[in-house]
Amino acid sequence: MNIWHVLGAGSLGGLWAARLARAGLPVRLILRDQARLGQYRAVGGLTLVEDGLASLHPIPAETPHTGIPIRRLLLACKAYDAEEAAAELVPRLAPGAEIVLLQNGLGSQEAVAARLPRAQCVFASSTEGAFRDGAFRVVYAGRGHTWLGVPGERRAPAWLNDLSAAGIPHAWSADILAKLWRKLALNCAINPLTVLHDCRNGGLRDWPDEVAGLCDELATLLRAAGQDEAATDLHQEVLRVIDGTAANYSSMHQDVANGRRTEIGYLLGHALATAERLGLHLPRLEHLLQRLREYLTGRGLPVT
Ligand code: NAP
Repeated sequence: MNIWHVLGAGSLGGLWAARLARAGLPVRLILRDQARLGQYRAVGGLTLVEDGLASLHPIPAETPHTGIPIRRLLLACKAYDAEEAAAELVPRLAPGAEIVLLQNGLGSQEAVAARLPRAQCVFASSTEGAFRDGAFRVVYAGRGHTWLGVPGERRAPAWLNDLSAAGIPHAWSADILAKLWRKLALNCAINPLTVLHDCRNGGLRDWPDEVAGLCDELATLLRAAGQDEAATDLHQEVLRVIDGTAANYSSMHQDVANGRRTEIGYLLGHALATAERLGLHLPRLEHLLQRLREYLTGRGLPVT
């Protein structure tokens, strides 16, 4: 049975690692460096808080440069850390190693795959929600679903059984790029505006024309990028998400409010880089990116 190496014992990485370990599957965490490893050992393991109940999982951990060869890896860092984190592990990857990429947005997956040509990269798109409320403590905040897939590959690999055993809600997608593009488009239509208007998702009901204009350009981009399915009824779904999550702050709003780097380069930034490559001029989205970058710069946050 292959060991699940999990790089990044953050919110989603911790959530996956704890559930896999709880099901009796072999798991090892890969932490940044000796200092993080020392902090982890001091707290005695990873704590998962689920339905208000905390459970401690003493999962073995190591740094990137030590340990046994890696045959299966869950890369659970942010999109902007993914390429560098994956590159560090190259000497440890067994030929044909399976790597699940949990990053939101697009762009980081291709960068990782280019660094690891001998690995099998599986893209994932998740609607699960988790956050950290302490050192190596993860709160399971929102039930959701994870789509996994390899572009062009219709058949699911046998190791997905591990996810079923661990109770991780998931399904194989024969068109994972469509899922990732759709999620990216929803994010581009909602998250930057919630930052600029400093509001909850529901606050965007006050800006219907702005939302509609962005959806129009996003649908144009998706179709030009060959993602017709992801473009279908985009505006209606954006409005549904705004209503369904009206009381929530978007992840980008939360990042900015907490002074954390956003994943903008892999969301709106990626959308506009793709538009440029396709020779498309999308003035509303371009103006949105410009305003967002000015806003982030004003708060001392990275704009990529
Ligand atoms: P997170 O809580 O910030 O966790 C990221 C983890 O990666 C941190 O523990 C960080 O370590 C670690 N890391 C970064 N570089 C590393 C390296 N070189 N070596 C070892 N560890 C490294 O992030 P997250 O919320 O789980 O998000 C991960 C991805 O999932 C993002 O793309 C996000 O958009 C996506 N996602 C998240 C959620 C959610 O609810 N959280 C939902 C859907 C999608 P340090 O602690 O040392 O910094």
